[in-house]
Amino acid sequence: MKNILVTGGAGFIGSNFVHYMLENHPDYKIINLDLLTYAGNIHNLDDVKDNPNHIFVQGNITNRELVRHLVKEHHIDAFVNFAAESHVDRSILHPEIFVETNIQGTLALLDVAKEMNIEKYLQVSTDEVYGSLGAEGYFTEETPLAPNSPYSSSKTGADLLVRAYHETYGMNVNITRCSNNYGPYHFPEKLIPLMITNGMDGKELPIYGDGLNIRDWLHVQDHCQAIDLVLHKGRSGEVYNVGGHNERTNNQIVDIIIEKLGLSRDLIKYVEDRLGHDKRYAIDPTKLEDELGWKPKYTFDTGIVETIEWYQNNEAWWRPLQERAALNK
Ligand code: NAD
Repeated sequence: MKNILVTGGAGFIGSNFVHYMLENHPDYKIINLDLLTYAGNIHNLDDVKDNPNHIFVQGNITNRELVRHLVKEHHIDAFVNFAAESHVDRSILHPEIFVETNIQGTLALLDVAKEMNIEKYLQVSTDEVYGSLGAEGYFTEETPLAPNSPYSSSKTGADLLVRAYHETYGMNVNITRCSNNYGPYHFPEKLIPLMITNGMDGKELPIYGDGLNIRDWLHVQDHCQAIDLVLHKGRSGEVYNVGGHNERTNNQIVDIIIEKLGLSRDLIKYVEDRLGHDKRYAIDPTKLEDELGWKPKYTFDTGIVETIEWYQNNEAWWRPLQERAALNK
């Protein structure tokens, strides 16, 4: 496996993965297909733009003709699909585009992968397909799928298509289901970068509801390492959950950022809760650890401090994105 088609590689996790692969597999070629929607950012790739092992192509994953052409031209061995509409709040306002990109787009990629005998298809999915947990327990790969938002429903639909292409056509596929990521290049509409960038500007820190919703945070580098392992060693047809046992309430996240930036707690503003807001996500990553030897490098306490410092040192990166991040744009 040497030539990888990475789709959505100008987004948050995809661009981190492109960097990760170029560093860890210097003999690989990465073909990066991304539409550059509001969430895609070519500047995430500035430092690899002259790397001969990275080729960026702007285009839509629903364009089968283009994907076929890329496979042929670059002798692609594997697909890793990050391309998606990824923001739950936007899915509540405009579900249609989530079905188009997340479901139709995945179907198009699967069709081309099947037609052209691609060695491995890896779908990057989310723990949100499992729905919401109470105070106890963890999501395992056997947890029933019970998505609650248009975003997570569209990701679930995509996962089921991937499963079907394995069961029906015998395709070599994997699905990874990861908890919430944080780290560099995270678009400032999401909780952690929004709070950091608002905090740096002395603006309000809006928290949904009572702030007691719990997410299981994973550093994006640890996610990239998991995807690399599954790509190379994952058993055909298997799902792998990815998470690092770092559960925090939204209030705790905001408290850490307030403390690190030396802000006043008066900036916190509790706002009307998100519709259908899932209470708690928490991943059991035992299968990935036991079968493939995955071990996260970051604890949340070290990773969050590094991430806050990254935003402090990279204002030129996030400042122009603030306007695009506003929900009504
Ligand atoms: P993102 O929104 O930052 O990036 C998505 C990328 O996909 C963007 O670069 C965008 O331009 C591109 N894209 C969108 N529609 C496209 C299309 N039709 N054709 C080609 N490219 C298109 O998202 P992210 O946070 O990096 O998430 C990447 C993947 O990981 C998604 O599939 C998401 O569901 C999944 N995931 C994310 C998280 C998280 O915490 N961010 C957690 C688990 C899983």
